[in-house]
Amino acid sequence: MVKPQGLLLVLSGPSGAGKGTICQMLREKLPDLAYSVSVTTRQARNGEVDGVNYFFKSVEEVKQMIAEGELLEYAEVYGNYYGTPRSYVMELLNQGKDVILEIDIQGAMQIKKRFPDGVFVFIVPPSLDELCSRIYKRGTDSEDVIKRRLASATGELAYANEYDYIVVNDVAQKATSKVLTIMEAERYRAART
Ligand code: 5GP
Repeated sequence: MVKPQGLLLVLSGPSGAGKGTICQMLREKLPDLAYSVSVTTRQARNGEVDGVNYFFKSVEEVKQMIAEGELLEYAEVYGNYYGTPRSYVMELLNQGKDVILEIDIQGAMQIKKRFPDGVFVFIVPPSLDELCSRIYKRGTDSEDVIKRRLASATGELAYANEYDYIVVNDVAQKATSKVLTIMEAERYRAART
């Protein structure tokens, strides 16, 4: 495979760690950072727009994309499929653009195998109590989904060692600045190698 020139930034962490907020802040600070819109089989939440937040698909459609190799990675998360469309990411990386993926740990581990030069950042909450209250406060999920998210969050924290960097998200703005610094350092490193 030709070595992509752009930086592939993979952001993950347990539900409630605040990776969505950090991702949004990064995109505001770096308008050239390309955000990969994932496909998902989950229902759109209030205010979510097809093609902006996700490409909302049926299970059959996603299975077809998997069979045709159209996804760079995919995973089943809380009973739904999520995946990263291949062509968009490859095209941008090959053009030298930086791309951000905000995906779960299973997906991040698949990407790590294919893109060992990617930058893998794990966002963690300051404490489990804080994680719990963030998931409840968000108020977008049913009680059942909240319970599943909380149960898997503790297991997910064990994967932190697989990442290049761990960023504690106490205050989102500070955590975003840390990720920006990481990106800057990684760009210098990539330019030297
Ligand atoms: P939510 O339903 O809250 O938007 O996302 C649930 C989980 O799915 C989050 O951890 C999110 O990072 C992850 N996710 C979103 N898109 C993708 C994707 O394309 N691939 C994988 N593996 N996970 C994803």
